[in-house]
Amino acid sequence: MSDQGSATAPAVGVLEPDASSFVSYDPAGGGEVATFPALSAAQVGAVVAEARQAAAWWAALSWAERERRLLAWAGVIARGRRELCELVHRENGKPLDDAFLEVFLAVEHVGWAARHARKVLRPRRVATGLLMANHAASLEYQPLGVVGVIGPWNYPVFTPMGSIGYALAAGNAVVLKPSEYTTAIGEWIVDAFAQANPDAPHQVLRLVTGAGQTGVALCESGVDKIAFTGSARTGRKVMAACAPSLTPVLMECGGKDAMIVAADANLGQAVDAALWGAMSNAGQTCVGIERVYVVDSVKDEFIAELTARIQKLALKPGDGPGAAYGPMTMPSQADVVRRHIDDALARGGTAIVGGAQAVRAPYVEPTVLLDVPEDSSAVCEETFGPTITVKGVKDLEEAVALANATGYGLGSAVYGRRGAMAVARRLRSGMTSVNAVIAFAGVPGLPFGGVGESGFGRVHGADGLREFSRTKAITRRRYSTPFEPTTFARHPKTMAILNKYVTIRYGRKK
Ligand code: NAD
Repeated sequence: MSDQGSATAPAVGVLEPDASSFVSYDPAGGGEVATFPALSAAQVGAVVAEARQAAAWWAALSWAERERRLLAWAGVIARGRRELCELVHRENGKPLDDAFLEVFLAVEHVGWAARHARKVLRPRRVATGLLMANHAASLEYQPLGVVGVIGPWNYPVFTPMGSIGYALAAGNAVVLKPSEYTTAIGEWIVDAFAQANPDAPHQVLRLVTGAGQTGVALCESGVDKIAFTGSARTGRKVMAACAPSLTPVLMECGGKDAMIVAADANLGQAVDAALWGAMSNAGQTCVGIERVYVVDSVKDEFIAELTARIQKLALKPGDGPGAAYGPMTMPSQADVVRRHIDDALARGGTAIVGGAQAVRAPYVEPTVLLDVPEDSSAVCEETFGPTITVKGVKDLEEAVALANATGYGLGSAVYGRRGAMAVARRLRSGMTSVNAVIAFAGVPGLPFGGVGESGFGRVHGADGLREFSRTKAITRRRYSTPFEPTTFARHPKTMAILNKYVTIRYGRKK
């Protein structure tokens, strides 16, 4: 944290466990945004109990009624977007246009979830097979009940909405604990739902405020699932807190996304995308590009273009309208970025743009690091800052091997023409964009989530709706037959028929 940062913005993240309230701050100026109560376990429990009543009401509504209410919510968010974007700019620090993009994506996802829930989750018939031919079989996706959503601060609207919107559309009530750094934004989202549904007898979207201890309380409150988005380190604690009660968890954790640039890539577009993927939102993007592997034959051209583009665009952080991106939202994150840059340079890497002096909290200037050893923290750990490492590779084989040599596996990108799709398939990550970055997040029908240290489970799309549902299998005997196999009174002929069936269907030598 900078001296400036620590003087003006006490770290909400070190909230004492017994603190009864906390403050969220404007990360650019350090001014106070709002004060919130840090809810105790008993208070969280009371909110969850009320949400359980709301869940019963909400689950009993028709698909069409839930869709109507969710779209009304999206409408309130869309009409109030100016106010929400200003709040996002103030409490998270990102530029207004980026806040708008985030809000745009969030309402698109709510709209998709609302409109597709019935189609994805409605009961369906399933073929029974010979053994149970006299039964009807059906599959249903039932709501879980109450879903606890624990959110991060970097995309305080879009990210929690990926869980909230899909969980609500699947018929659950939701209790949201936003990040302590962006609680006012979480409160705005929850209030918008109440505003959109003034006639609702129960509030199906509820807020609990606080830092880690309140998160623990939510994990231990008896909710039917925890949808966690945050760091892998905290994710482990969430899983531990959920383990005694076997509360299921969805883990949306961090990443160390790589971009691969092939020899036949459009280098201008690749450079543009690398910059956006690495620097937008001050690099505080779970699916931000942190590493670039570029094939040697075009490496020099790529680097020259990258450097020139940064200068031409005059990429600068700041708080005003001309800023490319804002401050570090969480002051202590600047320390992590500085540590990674220092380590990269101490280990033989070169800063071709920015460098050690780039970190002036709460702002970090763009930094491009060349030929950093693969075992340095700048390559191995999530940096979450406007920095990028670039390394030449002899071919796409080496690029894939290095891109996959990380415990993380959230997103990735490939630039190239021939063979780019094949490379995309081989990347060990939940999502890959070809000739773009982060495009998958903008497609509501596509699932979003990672592998390894990046977590498990999926938000968005049909998988995201099913993630917040309990699959229920039902069989119903339609009629009786003399050939029932599962009775002590079964006829020997039944077993003879079944034996014959197995021989004919599977037992013949080909
Ligand atoms: P964090 O892990 O510090 O905190 C996340 C949330 O967990 C906060 O609400 C926090 O109050 C809460 N929390 C802290 N301790 C807890 C505990 N012991 N039990 C329960 N809850 C607890 O993460 P952050 O700094 O807010 O967010 C940044 C991280 O989130 C990055 O690693 C980023 O990559 C990741 N992220 C992932 C995605 C994704 O979809 N995969 C999206 C956005 C951010």
